[in-house]
Amino acid sequence: MADANSILDTKLREIFGYTSFNPHQREIIDAIRSGRDCLAILPTGSGKSLCYQLPAILSGEKLAIVVSPLISLMKDQVLQLNQLGEYAVLLNSSLSREDYSKNIARIVSGQVRILYVAPETLMKPHVLNLLDRVSISFLTIDEAHCISEWGHDFRPEYRQLATLRERFPGLPVLALTATATKRVQKDIVTSLHMKTPALFVASFDRPNLFLEVKEKTNGFKQLTAFMERFANQSGIVYCASRKETEQIVTKLTKQGISALPYHAGMSAEDRNRNQEAFIRDDVNIIVATIAFGMGINKPDVRFVVHYDLPKNIESYYQQIGRAGRDGLPAHCLLLLGYGDISKIRYFINQKEDEHEKRIAGNQLSVMLAFAEATCCRRIPLLRYFGESYQKENCGACDNCVDGVRAETRDLTVEAQKFMSCVWRTGQMFGMGYIVNVLLGSTEKRVLQKGHDRLSTWGIGKDHSRQAWQQLGRQLIAHGLLSQDPTYGGLKLTAAAWPVLRSGKKFTGHMDEGKAATKPAAKKAVAARREDVLSDPAKRNLFEELRQKRKELATEMDMPPYVVFSDRTLVEMVEHRPATLSELTEIHGVGAVKLKRYGQIFLSVLNDSR
Ligand code: ADP
Ligand code: ZN
Repeated sequence: MADANSILDTKLREIFGYTSFNPHQREIIDAIRSGRDCLAILPTGSGKSLCYQLPAILSGEKLAIVVSPLISLMKDQVLQLNQLGEYAVLLNSSLSREDYSKNIARIVSGQVRILYVAPETLMKPHVLNLLDRVSISFLTIDEAHCISEWGHDFRPEYRQLATLRERFPGLPVLALTATATKRVQKDIVTSLHMKTPALFVASFDRPNLFLEVKEKTNGFKQLTAFMERFANQSGIVYCASRKETEQIVTKLTKQGISALPYHAGMSAEDRNRNQEAFIRDDVNIIVATIAFGMGINKPDVRFVVHYDLPKNIESYYQQIGRAGRDGLPAHCLLLLGYGDISKIRYFINQKEDEHEKRIAGNQLSVMLAFAEATCCRRIPLLRYFGESYQKENCGACDNCVDGVRAETRDLTVEAQKFMSCVWRTGQMFGMGYIVNVLLGSTEKRVLQKGHDRLSTWGIGKDHSRQAWQQLGRQLIAHGLLSQDPTYGGLKLTAAAWPVLRSGKKFTGHMDEGKAATKPAAKKAVAARREDVLSDPAKRNLFEELRQKRKELATEMDMPPYVVFSDRTLVEMVEHRPATLSELTEIHGVGAVKLKRYGQIFLSVLNDSR
């Protein structure tokens, strides 16, 4: 075993340029090499591809089949892998006749180790017949959750894969996915007739993602202020509507920030063009509706902003998951607008189907429990996936880093005051007016309506305006008050009465002073600045290396990350290799890339000395 281990280690370094395995990778590779079926559930960015790439490359003359649903992802994998050696081909109907035949010839003559193929192509008789003529090492099913009707992305063509077990008896199967509930796991195992599979389940936690939630006060200003820290870096901004997407792009462009939209209302051609521009670093920012992200593998997305509240915590997790795949720190900011929440509530209440209504309502509460958490954000996030997060301080969320966000306190009396004021003024006024009455305002409107004679007039003088508004927003967020989506008028909901009548406890925050712009949030920012090269000299060098990378990539008509990842460039800046042999110590520099690009990057490094 020691020998086998050292071969794996050597090849990992030599071919991929990595110094060590990520969690589970070695065990999965061992299992598959010993001929055992495996099911591995590992989050995005944990290095699932290596789990089949390395054993496939080490399989001598054999061919590993990798089934994957998205052509764009397969193309990307082939491109990246072939930078390390000519290891892989793709079979798919979009290839020209000539390329298709060429790829088939390479398979038959045993020149390649991996065949990437979509399930419907694989199941074609001529492809199956072709595979009868070669020796197959193992079968990998990527995105294996697609086989299950219980999964979020069921694909009927995946069902057919089961028949491969009869056609190729004894062939080990490796099923990979980033998300699978217990039910989906079971479904994968039975549908693929897996025999006593080795099961690997990693934590859903993505420790390199910094999680932050801020109250949305002036969304656009907050967005640009946030983005200042990420000059020249890639990021995604998610919005709720197509219109908003376009508006934000227009506003960003006006400020000289390069951004492109992506949403389902655009033609497929325009969408592809914008996605490609993003992947190739021709544009830094994509402003998108949820339609964006499925088919991309870009490892160096440094931030994801949610300009609007995501529909549920699962989509939130998937969307932030597109950041930091390379393992370097990335920042996820959610802007929480209390007005948006009442809009969502309004739409939920419009739903006819009671069942749907209940589900949507639950999803919103889970999302809010995360957004309004005062504890580590990883606790509610991972709880959703059935994990209990144990660390005292994650070091990568606003609440843990600030550490100053106050505990919630009993605000039952304040909630009663606020809500009875809403009631007594006739449930038609907005937040500002209600707070005016609570504070004992003598503005004309208050006097005209005779609201200075109400028992709730002036009973709120012991708190500031900001504190009352903050409370009002929490009452909306928790569904005790509803807000008219057009006029902003507040109304009590059924949930308000237990608090008003029988003193059911309500807890929350009321911070006097300017509550929303927590000074603590600044500290979170400071803690993050060292993320990527805060030193100006290093930063310059990083930019030069980046430029060189872009140049090479453009020449070869490829995305820059195919040449080297950001992580590789960052290490070059940090360690300053001066010779080819020093360069091999850098992450991601394998033998082939060393030969191809080593001198070019060394000269950039040496020129800067
Ligand atoms: P997943 O498919 O699980 O999302 P990928 O296979 O795309 O993950 O890998 C994510 C990133 O991690 C890639 O940039 C890959 O090069 C890198 N990676 C994979 N394995 C290792 C390793 N052992 N050491 C360092 N980096 C790795
Ligand atoms: Zn935390």
